[in-house]
Amino acid sequence: MTVRVRIAPSPTGNLHIGTARTAVFNWLFARHHGGQFILRVEDTDQTRSRPEYTQNILEGLTWLGLNWDEGPTFQSKRLQLYRQATQKLLDQGLAYRCYCTAEELEEMRAAQKARKEAPRYDNRHRHLTAEQRAAFEAEGRKPVIRFMIDDGREIVWKDLVRGKVTWKGSDLGGDMVIARASEEDEIGQPLYNLAVVVDDMDMKITHVIRGEDHIANTAKQILLYEAMGAAVPEFAHTPLILNTQGQKLSKRDGVTSISDFQEMGFLPDAIANYMTLLGWSPPDSTQEIFSLEDAAKEFNFERVNRAGAKFDWAKLDWLNSQYVHQMSPTQLVDLLIPYWQTAGFEFDPISDRPWLEQLAAVIGPSLTRLPEAVEMTSIFFTQSVEFKEEALNQLQQVGASEVVQAILEQLDRSEQLTSEEAGQIIKQVTKEQKVKKGLVMRSLRAALTGDVHGPDLIESWLILQQRGLAQARLQQALQQGSEK
Ligand code: GLU
Repeated sequence: MTVRVRIAPSPTGNLHIGTARTAVFNWLFARHHGGQFILRVEDTDQTRSRPEYTQNILEGLTWLGLNWDEGPTFQSKRLQLYRQATQKLLDQGLAYRCYCTAEELEEMRAAQKARKEAPRYDNRHRHLTAEQRAAFEAEGRKPVIRFMIDDGREIVWKDLVRGKVTWKGSDLGGDMVIARASEEDEIGQPLYNLAVVVDDMDMKITHVIRGEDHIANTAKQILLYEAMGAAVPEFAHTPLILNTQGQKLSKRDGVTSISDFQEMGFLPDAIANYMTLLGWSPPDSTQEIFSLEDAAKEFNFERVNRAGAKFDWAKLDWLNSQYVHQMSPTQLVDLLIPYWQTAGFEFDPISDRPWLEQLAAVIGPSLTRLPEAVEMTSIFFTQSVEFKEEALNQLQQVGASEVVQAILEQLDRSEQLTSEEAGQIIKQVTKEQKVKKGLVMRSLRAALTGDVHGPDLIESWLILQQRGLAQARLQQALQQGSEK
């Protein structure tokens, strides 16, 4: 048997992190078994589906490296198939037309609520006579189509994550709507559970891997498979993603879609790696950094947790920084150029490339999220800098301005500063001024960068020198120091 799995997003929003994580598990499972990973866009809800969301979903999956083998297939192009299946269920007497109005359903629910019962459809139109149907039709009522659910049924399956799952027919809310009412058609817009089963059958899906929030749907869908005389696939329900308080991750947590993470400057490999760890762990659980390909070699459902997976920003940041630190300056520059351009820094991406790469090499080791590079590097792009309070304090230290002055004089004599020469200057100034090396280093950093913290000092100095900014910066520091 060839494993065939699918990711079936609804384009009613951007690619959700939960959907992306489900996509990751499907992809890993397919690749582990040399099977197929299929993309199906569930866009039957025409009022809520938007092409820009479809675009965002396809781009997000691609960005994460989740290449699919078939699709995208659009449900909106397959309505005929769902209609035929519905008609067949009607013909077999397994589905029927229900003419209840919204008010009647509302009344039914209110009465159930008053009796402290769970809301459900009470199957009242299951056995209408031909006369009753004709009377409703004559009133102009448009029916939905409901699939019969036997309250006495027990639905059981062996879930690949959760083990044996048992669901009572009576807990499924009564006969379920499989097609909406329609003004024009005998059979209106198909609903999720029907369309999914028809598609999963048609696409020969062997394993349905999806979020735990679909468990009740699975029970309903198993009944539909049976009614349609099809083999039931295997199911794996993956744990939900929770916030740090243990609630389902939502918009309130500030980020819900993959494009949000992209905008925040996370790398796709880090996100894919993190998504994999949200609910799964490799056999060697100390191993935390791995590619999707590596994870696919080891992936199985035995190592998928049943409990919800807590989303941990600190861990994601750490993972992202590990990926950033592994990058070569050349790769990093390519990613940083757009941020520098957006920040309005002036540079030529081609002719300035050598020093931009040097810059990337200098800041790379302390970078976590890409946009941080803007603040970290602004002093290399601008003529003057704003001196931070601590830097001004440093420049006020006894001997600090003399140190800066002495360095300036040395620099005037230097043609092209090398790191040896820079080290030499520091040594010489320390000796001449009879001060501690620490004072020279701290004062030089404060003067060059306007800050007391930052990346490697000598490397930063060399870049500023190369950019023709070092001397001006030291002069600016002397002036600021004397003005304070
Ligand atoms: N369209 C459904 C969703 O986005 C798919 C669920 C399924 O995998 O069956 O949740």
